[in-house]
Order: sequence, then structure tokens, then C-alpha cells
Amino acid sequence: MRRRRKKLNLKRILLVILVLLAIAFLIYKLATKEEEPVKIMMTDITNKDLAEAKELLKEYKLDISEEYKYNDDIPKDAIISQSIPKDTEIKEGDKLELVVSLGKRDLEKLKNDGINELGKVPIMMYHGIKNMKNSETSHTGGNVDKDGYTRTVEAFRGDLDFYYQNGYRMIKLSDYVAGNIDTEYGKSPIVLTFDDGNDNNIKVTGLDDDGNIIIDKNSAVGVLEEYKKKYPDFNVTAIFFVTSALFNQPEYNEKIIKWLVDNGYEVGNHTKGHNNLSNTSEKETEQVVGSVYKQLEGIIGDKYSKIVALPFGTPYNKTHANYKHVLNGEYDGFSYETVSALRVGWEPEVSPFNKDFDRTFLKRCRAYDNNGVEFDIKMVFRMLEKTRYVSDGDKETIITSNANSGIITKETEKEIILY
Ligand SMILES: [Zn+2]
Repeated sequence: MRRRRKKLNLKRILLVILVLLAIAFLIYKLATKEEEPVKIMMTDITNKDLAEAKELLKEYKLDISEEYKYNDDIPKDAIISQSIPKDTEIKEGDKLELVVSLGKRDLEKLKNDGINELGKVPIMMYHGIKNMKNSETSHTGGNVDKDGYTRTVEAFRGDLDFYYQNGYRMIKLSDYVAGNIDTEYGKSPIVLTFDDGNDNNIKVTGLDDDGNIIIDKNSAVGVLEEYKKKYPDFNVTAIFFVTSALFNQPEYNEKIIKWLVDNGYEVGNHTKGHNNLSNTSEKETEQVVGSVYKQLEGIIGDKYSKIVALPFGTPYNKTHANYKHVLNGEYDGFSYETVSALRVGWEPEVSPFNKDFDRTFLKRCRAYDNNGVEFDIKMVFRMLEKTRYVSDGDKETIITSNANSGIITKETEKEIILY
């Protein structure tokens, strides 16, 4: 009997131990389970309303950004796509890019608003700006010389007001050439160019206490800076084509070049000595083009524009033997590739999306007065009334009428929308 009792006690003890072990195991399990991070998975939010989706994701504190696109199938403000696919683990601060629908594109409205990205773009050609009034010149309007190569500052301010009030907004020449046009909806792009590096393009009168250049308010850039403030949505910019003399202010030249590219302007190439490229040898052509590129590179690295304004507008034909040396060449161990070349005068250029667009042979409009004839400013803008480029504000799309479908370039990856 006693022995049996002993056996029973042993069984009990074993049972208690087992139960205790089980409890310990459970506690261990529970404790370690708490240490395991909780995985959160991305859900499918496509087709959901943006506000609703944001509310849903709020607690996960994602870094959400949106891009808007037209879509025929997904209603306005609903999500077209999400950069993080569903069932992907997410954590605080993850970037989530959403494409949100603007709804169906209103073709009728585009037509009524005259959106036409196959329209023409004026590339205005200026040279000098002189601080005088129109009444002080003995020539027509704001022409300081007979041909209006130098323009009065009064006329220049008048030009800028005229462009702005007629719905033109400035773009960089490089952006026009590259078809990067995000001019606001319903407005037209215009490009301003200045040749020769006249000191009145950007006249520096001294340096301030911090060593920054002080710009004469009546030089071209002084006026352009004034218009940045006067019309903040004018998108003020211009390109200056220089020779090796740069802006003819040896003391300040380098500071000027740096200031220009740091303040939204462009600097391009007008050959070393304002050379007539119809008369240079092929080797000389590369010297006079390449040396200016090299000089600019030495001052601002690759921030100059690889664009040449052909002095005197020559050669007149691209078949000229020198032309290929304008576009490609080498000077003193420095090789260059010119993206675009500009001619002189007379009419607005085609859209960069026109199949006839040739960025290496672009026409400019002479910014001068001639009573509305011979392609003066008045005549050019009269011509543009019905033919001008009118932007939709989106640089990823090309919008125009069905009638223009035949003139659109085939070499574009942009979305083409016809009305
Ligand atoms: Zn020139």
C-alpha cells in the first residue's frame, strides 16, 4: 500500500512539472511574440477616391505624392495607379506616388480655348538696349540705328508689356529646342535672344559689400529683372550669345556669366571673333566655335547652352562645307556637339513637334520697328494671331486640331491628343 501511494505521489509531481513547463512555454511564447514586429501590407487603392485613400492610409504615415492625368475610364479624383503594389510590406516614411485621374479630357474645351501645340513660336532677336527714349532717336519707333539692331530701353519695356499682355510667356531656348514646353494653359511661348555680348545687355556698375554684381537697371538684364517682379508669371528668361570678349567688361565678365546661369538665364556661343562662317576654313570654323565653348566651360562647367547664333546668319545653307563643323568639332583637345544653331530674321519658327522642325537651322524674328511691314515686331505678332502655339500646360502631351495631324513629327514619345 505504501509503495503504491509513493507511486501516485510521483505521478502527481510529474504532472505538476508538466503543467508548469507548459505554462512557462506559453509565457515564453507570448513574450517573444510581442517582440516580433507587426508587418503591414499595402492595400489596393486603385479606383478609390484620393481623399478616401489618404484617410485609409493615414495611420501608416507614408510620404504620399500625387500626379494628375486625364483618364477616360477612371472618374475624376480617383486613383489610376499606385507606386507600391498591393501586398508589399510598408513602413512609416515610405514614398507612395499616386497617379490621380482628372477625368475625361474635355476636347470641346481645348478646341474653344484654341489650344494648339503645333502652332508657331517667335524667337526674338535683340542686340543692344540703349538707355534712351524713342523720341530721342532719329529713326522709326524704338530703333536707335536705321535697322533697329539697338533698341531704346523705352521700346524694350514696351515690347515686354506687349508680349505679356498678348498672352506670351517666356521659355528657355533650350526648352523650346527640346520640346520641354510647360507654358501655362492657354498661353503662348516666346524666346528672347541677345547677340554680340554688348555691355548694355548686362551692364555692371560695381560690386556690393558681399561681392555681388550691381546691374544697371536700364541695361537689358536690369529691365528683365524689373519684369520678373512686375509680372511674376511671365517666367522671365533669355539667352545671351557671346564672343570671346564675353560681355566686354573684363573686370566682371566671369561674375556676369555665373550670375546669368544662376539666375535663370542662358549663355550661348556667337563664335570667337564674330566670324563670318562662310569665309572661314573648316579648321578655323572649329577653332572659332570650339574656343568659345571651351572658354565658357572654364567659367561655368557644363552650364552653358550648346547653341550657336550664327554671326551675320551665315552660312545661309546647311549644305555649306562649314556647317558640319558648327555642329561637331574639336578645338585644342576639347570636343563639342552643338545642339542647335540660329539664323538671323525673319519669321516665327514652327513648333518643335512639327515634322519640319530643324533645331540646327532655326529662324528668328528681328525685334525692331518698321510701321508693321517687313517682318517688324508688329507684323510678326499680327502673323501669329491665328498661327501661334497655345500651350495646354502639360509638357507630356501634344494637343492640336485634327487638321494638323499630318504635320506632327513621328519622332516623339509624347501623347498626342487631337480635337
Ligand atoms: Zn552678331
